[in-house]
Amino acid sequence: MQKGKIGVTTENIFPIIKKFLYSDHEIFLREIISNAVDATQKLKTLASVGEYKGELGDLTINVELDKDAGTIKISDKGIGMTAEEIEKYINQIAFSGAEEFLEKYKNQNNAIIGHFGLGFYSSFMVSDKVEIITKSHKDDTKAVHWKCDGTPDYDIEEIDRTERGTDIILYINDDSKEFLEESRIEGLLKKYCRYLPIPISFGTEKEWKDGKEVDTKKVKIINDINPLWTRKPVDLKDEDYQKFYHDLYPAAEEPLFNIHLNVDYPFNLTGILYFPKIKTNFDIQKNKIQLYCNQVYVTDSVEGIVPEFLTLLHGVIDSPDIPLNVSRSYLQSDSNVKKISGHIMKKVADRLQDIFKNDRPQFEKKWDDLKLFITYGMISDEKFYERADKFALLKNVDGKYFTFEEYEKLIKENQIDKNKTLVYLYTNDKEEQHSYIEAVQNKGYDVLMMDGQLDPHLINSLESKLKDSRFVRVDSDVVEKLIVKEDRKEVSLSAEEQNDLRSVFEGALPENSHYWVSFEELEETANPVVITRSEFMRRMKDMAAMNASAGFYGNMPDSLNLVVNVSHPLIKKVIKSKGKELGAKIGELDTQIKPIEANVDELKKKTKDKKDEEIAQADRDSLSEAEKQLDKLKDEKKVMLKGFGKDNKLVKQMIDLALLANNMLKGEDLSRFVKRSVDLIK
Ligand code: ADP
Repeated sequence: MQKGKIGVTTENIFPIIKKFLYSDHEIFLREIISNAVDATQKLKTLASVGEYKGELGDLTINVELDKDAGTIKISDKGIGMTAEEIEKYINQIAFSGAEEFLEKYKNQNNAIIGHFGLGFYSSFMVSDKVEIITKSHKDDTKAVHWKCDGTPDYDIEEIDRTERGTDIILYINDDSKEFLEESRIEGLLKKYCRYLPIPISFGTEKEWKDGKEVDTKKVKIINDINPLWTRKPVDLKDEDYQKFYHDLYPAAEEPLFNIHLNVDYPFNLTGILYFPKIKTNFDIQKNKIQLYCNQVYVTDSVEGIVPEFLTLLHGVIDSPDIPLNVSRSYLQSDSNVKKISGHIMKKVADRLQDIFKNDRPQFEKKWDDLKLFITYGMISDEKFYERADKFALLKNVDGKYFTFEEYEKLIKENQIDKNKTLVYLYTNDKEEQHSYIEAVQNKGYDVLMMDGQLDPHLINSLESKLKDSRFVRVDSDVVEKLIVKEDRKEVSLSAEEQNDLRSVFEGALPENSHYWVSFEELEETANPVVITRSEFMRRMKDMAAMNASAGFYGNMPDSLNLVVNVSHPLIKKVIKSKGKELGAKIGELDTQIKPIEANVDELKKKTKDKKDEEIAQADRDSLSEAEKQLDKLKDEKKVMLKGFGKDNKLVKQMIDLALLANNMLKGEDLSRFVKRSVDLIK
């Protein structure tokens, strides 16, 4: 027997590595099995080029658990190793590689993904002792038995063994007893080895017989050596893709579409991506994309490798060209990885474009489910936007779908304002904004349905992309002013008359509400009172709310306008009855107010260009006295007008109807409305 020291400088490197990779101990199995797969494939290659002339036989890799002995044995029938090869690959290279690895990553504990490159060495994370029993495929070589207990010392001796291949025996340490559980190993095999290209056996098939589970003595193969993504798309049917999807995610709903990726230049990449059915909740993305490297499972966090918005997709990506043992920040700046990410984005866009072109009815049918995903892509990835703007759809309130180009054509004639801006009208709630939609449609305008979670962002994007266009929600103004075609008629009331009428309506508004009362000459057939909310203010508020950090705008009350249609007969009636009831009193107050107002103006003019100390005390006193008087009289008038409004059933009724049209009439106000309505019709 020969003894030796493994070529490492650190006296005992194992405790360090054990601690270092604490959270990911389970990968040892993947590493050892990957080596076995490599060794087997190398043998197949040698046989195919005629360098290995022996029988290949059954190449199944066997995983065996011996609970009593506390061991896991992984046996392959691959190329095996000679004593010299063990010296070279295990004693020297593997361990010095590990040392290098540690040196390189000692400052970034969790920054590693994949942990490839650790290889054989990772077995010491879970073992007190590791043995290799191996016989090379080369003729005239002796089998060897290598043992190492986790210190840099090892034993190696020649043994009698005639079968080609390698057994790796792990003596599981006390901290890792979990790996002696059959279910745990089965779980790991399912996770990491499910699609390896060489059959892996573990245990035997069980069967249900007479209500009991019985052993069939048939070896159980745990993997599918030809997973779908490695096969040619022409050989596959929709059902195959669906079945594979359900194998990957048993609990998931039927996917919408799939994309089979197959790239061999400038990098190698295969895979199948699925568009899942997603509607609103971003967080329910449990079914992540799985990343493989030559059919070995690596990870399910693919950030950096696929564009952010595509992480919403499901499926698998397999590429030997993605650097797996590097930190995430490195990954994101790696130009190869960027290329891969860009390429995947392109493929996805191409596929959507194809479906759109070849089967538009199907595309439209699935649009509502696809929409969130595509919108997300369009607002977060400029390059995707450029592709998607050919197939992204807009839906109107009648459920018809249009491409951006088609929609522009549809509204071009009718919805252009006097500044040549194309106005896209939209609603985010068909029910709540029904009366506005109706008003807009009566004008012959079209209304878009923009009720998606990301639509406010999409609207911003579209406004910056589409030339001379803006989006306006149907309730942001009275219909005449949504799309202003020509200069509008001046309101027939004087400023003073408007002020008076404003007080009347303010008096009738619900308490503690904030409305700006304004006047418009609308059509006689339009509603007498309409509530609108400024597009700009509402968007500010929406954005603030979405950014969670609801700052200045988030805290503001809704900015609402109460628009009074002075052309409407009912409003004319109110003006008339106001004149009848208050005319004399108002006239009296006005005759008092007028001279004082003139006096205040006069005094103000006098002192306008003077500095404070230059103004005579007498002037100052009389100005403040006059202003006080004026305020008092105006207040008196206001109180009178408000009182009139408050008691005026007609004004109340019209305001309540406007509130009702917005689903904003609640509680006591609603009860009073119902009572008053009954009174009015009886
Ligand atoms: P890596 O697999 O990254 O090269 P490892 O430490 O896992 O690093 O393995 C080192 C080398 O040992 C391998 O490259 C291979 O030559 C040899 N080796 C490991 N396991 C086996 C095996 N089961 N059969 C034959 N050779 C093996």
